[in-house]
Amino acid sequence: MKSDEIPIITKKGFIDELYREGKIYAPYGLYERKVHGYKIFKIPFNASFTCPNWDGRLSRSGCIFCPNFARQFTYESFRRVLTEDLEEQVRDQIRYYKAQGAGEKALVYVAFGTNTYLSVDKLKKIFDTALNHRDVIGLSIGTRPDCLPDEVLDLLQGYIKEGKEIWLELGQQSVHFHTDERANRQHGFAESIRVVREAHKRGIYVLFFIILGLPYETPSEVIETARVVSAIGIDAIKLYPCLVMEGTQLQKEYRDGTYRPLSSLEYAALAADFLENLSPHVLIQRISKDCGLDGKIAPGWDTHRWIVGPRVEKILMIRGTKQGSRFKLGLTAEELVPLE
Ligand code: SF4
Repeated sequence: MKSDEIPIITKKGFIDELYREGKIYAPYGLYERKVHGYKIFKIPFNASFTCPNWDGRLSRSGCIFCPNFARQFTYESFRRVLTEDLEEQVRDQIRYYKAQGAGEKALVYVAFGTNTYLSVDKLKKIFDTALNHRDVIGLSIGTRPDCLPDEVLDLLQGYIKEGKEIWLELGQQSVHFHTDERANRQHGFAESIRVVREAHKRGIYVLFFIILGLPYETPSEVIETARVVSAIGIDAIKLYPCLVMEGTQLQKEYRDGTYRPLSSLEYAALAADFLENLSPHVLIQRISKDCGLDGKIAPGWDTHRWIVGPRVEKILMIRGTKQGSRFKLGLTAEELVPLE
């Protein structure tokens, strides 16, 4: 690739191959393997970012489901990223994951807090360090859609021009303003629409986190979220059940009986509905929540993806559907025939 060339973002041909090979949804990991020709793994990276929704710039109470700066470490590999030496973090994680046979090259997952909430100069130093290892092919940056001014997107575009792969993982959770307001997100959907457009112009992939089972959100609103995120052309999603974590606002609502989490069957059925109504070309990076579970109060069921994923697949198989089966935005040209 020439240094000034912007790559096409999601390569639909590779996703279509996954369906031809028998997949009933589009798994991100297999897609990456097809694009690169080898296995990619993600390493968690903690550069001690804070969040404007905790420090008072936007609010001091965080999102209602956020377990205090989102810094819950469950996996051994996540606990290992507590060292402040960023180069050492990357070296250590790559050694650790390679020893587990995770793959050949890594994407650094800048994972804890709002990871673009810092001046552009400071961000550059952190991201340069994360990329400075021969086995790192790029970055996957977890952040809020309202913390990505053009200057930050330009910085990230610079890495793409150097041949790196860049993902933004946006905590959108729902496209419905009443849900985002209820969850104290302090932003709506407009910010994400802008980011998808500006990121894609620069060759940056965009992933959304979507939570199923948020307070006051109906199943038909969840389905509409699947349709809307497909319509704006996002590249991937991570689906999670809404968890009640210790010390959160949601815990109070759970205790006083005003919030009830989804049961395991309700979640699996709603996730299946979501996938059916999602474009077949949106990659699925997670289908449930299986890390950061220290301090989980509810639901009581095991949310690990190896348990939930097969359950969702079974529902799709029983229904005889797959990702995108019900995805349709309006009438087809053939259907533009008024009925008698
Ligand atoms: S934006 Fe993320 S880190 Fe900040 S309060 Fe919400 S969930 Fe927590």
